[in-house]
Amino acid sequence: MNVYDGLRIAAMLEHNGFEQTNDVTDADIILLNTCAVRAKATDKVYSALGRIRRAKKPNAIYGIVGCVARESGADAFRKIKDLNFVLGPQSYHKLPEILNDPDTKLLDINLGGLEKFDELPPITKSPYVAYIPVQEGCNHCCTYCIVPYTRGPEISRSFNDIMAETMHSANVGAIEICFLGQNVNGYRYTDKNGKTYCLADIIRETAKIDSVKRIRFTSSYPTEMTDDLIDMFKSEPKLLPFLNMPIQSGSNKILEKMHRQYNIDEYMQIIDKFKTARPDIQISSDFIVGFPGESNDDFEQTCDIAKRIGYINSYSFKYSPRPHTAAAIMQQQIPENVKSERLIKLDSILNERQREFNLSCVDKTFDCLYEGVDKTGTKYIYRTPYMQPCIVTTNTPTPLAKICITSANKSCLHGKIID
Ligand code: SAH
Repeated sequence: MNVYDGLRIAAMLEHNGFEQTNDVTDADIILLNTCAVRAKATDKVYSALGRIRRAKKPNAIYGIVGCVARESGADAFRKIKDLNFVLGPQSYHKLPEILNDPDTKLLDINLGGLEKFDELPPITKSPYVAYIPVQEGCNHCCTYCIVPYTRGPEISRSFNDIMAETMHSANVGAIEICFLGQNVNGYRYTDKNGKTYCLADIIRETAKIDSVKRIRFTSSYPTEMTDDLIDMFKSEPKLLPFLNMPIQSGSNKILEKMHRQYNIDEYMQIIDKFKTARPDIQISSDFIVGFPGESNDDFEQTCDIAKRIGYINSYSFKYSPRPHTAAAIMQQQIPENVKSERLIKLDSILNERQREFNLSCVDKTFDCLYEGVDKTGTKYIYRTPYMQPCIVTTNTPTPLAKICITSANKSCLHGKIID
């Protein structure tokens, strides 16, 4: 979601006559697009602002957008006196106002819902992967999560708006569409004739666009998986066989304290439905270790479920107390060193399975999408249908390629283009 916001902000500034620079000392406007999900990300914002302040040209304006802006509000101006703007995740379309009057302080952290989508200028060129938000905010009240506060209640965009943006992105270069939402599979929109659309309808319609070859979505809430959506994995080959479905914990007791509305048995049943619909599907997850009250036994249950499900790729985090959340004031907060130990142990299980899956891909052939140049600047990176990065040598990279995997390690695959 932040990638999407970042691209739209960049496009909006280009529309206003700016161009991108990688050199802070040369920039006329500098902004940090921020995330508030964990405290570490928030802390980094203020140290980065200090560095920018020292390095920037005296007249350059600077500020923050996104969830830390929403969380800090006017406090950000008290912390950094000459900051020029603080714009929340639903008000960054107002940024041009500061260009007209750089001497004002621009503060807007309102939850404007979907207004930004109407105000932003359309992009003129899309990367091969276009992110299309289908909703803003979230109605699930996970007790650890700041998102309902920073991005507000869940509001779904109209089906027509989503399809217009999808079509436009395809027309200006997108080959893969990734639909976005905090609770993407909870998408529901009822039009003025009373017809209700869900995510499966968006996927079905998008699959009709010839130049779109791959479709995916993130991130999903397990109990919002409808049979209609699961069936799409059987009937729609453009939908990639890869799904992020965060479990967070393997302990029913902790899931309840997190206010996740499923237990482990229910989660497993949903996975089984996916495997029946699409036998080659692979799942990724998010985990939180060290949630308040997590005992050794609860944590062991998380390790067990990670092994049992065999996620091919996961994000794992130490629990981070966040303002405006119920878990931050719960008893039995877990000491930092215990969280760290648990994270290392869980990561070793997740990494081993990731390595194993990557190795199982050797000698197989996949349709892959071009992403960019590798670190050395001499090879090219593609993405497999399971989102693994795959490195190839070629003279002329094509947007889509059939690649045979020749070797693999935990972090990436190597392959050769055969078509
Ligand atoms: N709706 C999104 C949430 C985005 S946050 C989703 O379901 O994925 C992405 C991940 O960050 C969450 O899945 C969770 O694993 C992690 N996370 C959220 N709040 C956290 C916190 N307070 N501490 C640690 N990790 C957290």
